[in-house]
Amino acid sequence: MTTVSTTPRWTLSCSACQTPAPVAGASVCTACGQPLFAQYAPVPRATPLLDRWDLWRYSPFMPLLAGEVPVSLGEGLTPLKDAPELASSLGIKRLSIKDESQNPTGSFKARGMTAAVTRAKGAGVPGIVVPTAGNAGAALAAYGAAAGMPVRVFAPGTTPRPILDTIEAMGATLIRIDGHIGDAGKLALAYAAETGYFNISTLREPYRVEGMKTMGLELAEQLGWKLPDVIVYPTGGGEGTIGIWKAFNELGAGGWLPEGWRQPKFVVAQADGCAPIARAFRDGATSATPWIDPKTYAAGLRVPSPLGDRLLLRALNETNGTAGTATEDTIRAATFELAQATGIDAAPEGGCALAVLRDAINDGRISRDSECVIFNTGSGASYRV
Ligand SMILES: *Cc1c(COP(=O)(O)O)cnc(C)c1O
Ligand SMILES: [Zn+2]
Repeated sequence: MTTVSTTPRWTLSCSACQTPAPVAGASVCTACGQPLFAQYAPVPRATPLLDRWDLWRYSPFMPLLAGEVPVSLGEGLTPLKDAPELASSLGIKRLSIKDESQNPTGSFKARGMTAAVTRAKGAGVPGIVVPTAGNAGAALAAYGAAAGMPVRVFAPGTTPRPILDTIEAMGATLIRIDGHIGDAGKLALAYAAETGYFNISTLREPYRVEGMKTMGLELAEQLGWKLPDVIVYPTGGGEGTIGIWKAFNELGAGGWLPEGWRQPKFVVAQADGCAPIARAFRDGATSATPWIDPKTYAAGLRVPSPLGDRLLLRALNETNGTAGTATEDTIRAATFELAQATGIDAAPEGGCALAVLRDAINDGRISRDSECVIFNTGSGASYRV
């Protein structure tokens, strides 16, 4: 039997003011309220990656104790599919789709939950709770079941039915609320305070973003340890986008990327009916104001007041990126277009990314000689009600 180390290879500190935090049980920065980041010594290029077929292949970059067995369902290592037909329809050099629909429970949220639930289990918490626009709840329910931990999910009653059904099928307690994810967030916070359950809310829990980071690590490896020119991410709470940006910085620090490497331009894609980050970016702000009455059928984008607003705007500005929005009809059409041109069962969020990229190319914000990667973050099947 191997013994689990009690000395973490990482520390936690505030992403804004650097105030340190304990590695177990912390939520946001106690000094300024901003998200905490895990920090590691640079992982040198010669470090072997693990010979296993899930995202824990990247364990040297991950918050895992020596000897610890992660709570895993075979997440990550998703295909990067070349989409030449879409590239020529957009008029760009190259387009690939990173297809996150192939994760357990059908979205990239599995990546965050394998990391968060592994750490929550390590901390010995009595249970886990999450507010969700949908897919995070389904993913947490699955990883809770895998870990043998009780799970409580607060989700809007308007969440697509297949997602709500998955949450219940996995044995989680589902509370359907009359409101949006912001309202669910307040209820989850109160429930956690009352019961000692750990709150796995986006960026209020510091390890979900570490799982998201593997999308960036994996993409770089799939491209032969090079980065594309442009990353388009359908952004709600911001964890996916921020995780990928963090991944590239860590790869750069360890010498995994070519000499003189640069971050790709990040493109944040949002829906017309809920676009707090796109609006703040347009206004040149460093933080976002809450979006009143958020509405879009792309449930993952219905996040009116993301805690990651400052980090997202920083990533957009530092990478000379951009943001844009699409109408519901445009999202619907682009979702079918993405599916029919590639065979990927695109989620509306993925369709939104395609629509926003097209606008950015047409008005010259993204140049036509760019190599672009769109993240299809979820599965179309989850939205077919
Ligand atoms: C959660 C989610 C998003 C938004 O991701 P964030 O990391 O919260 O920005 C996009 N698409 C889908 C399918 C999602 O489930
Ligand atoms: Zn702080």
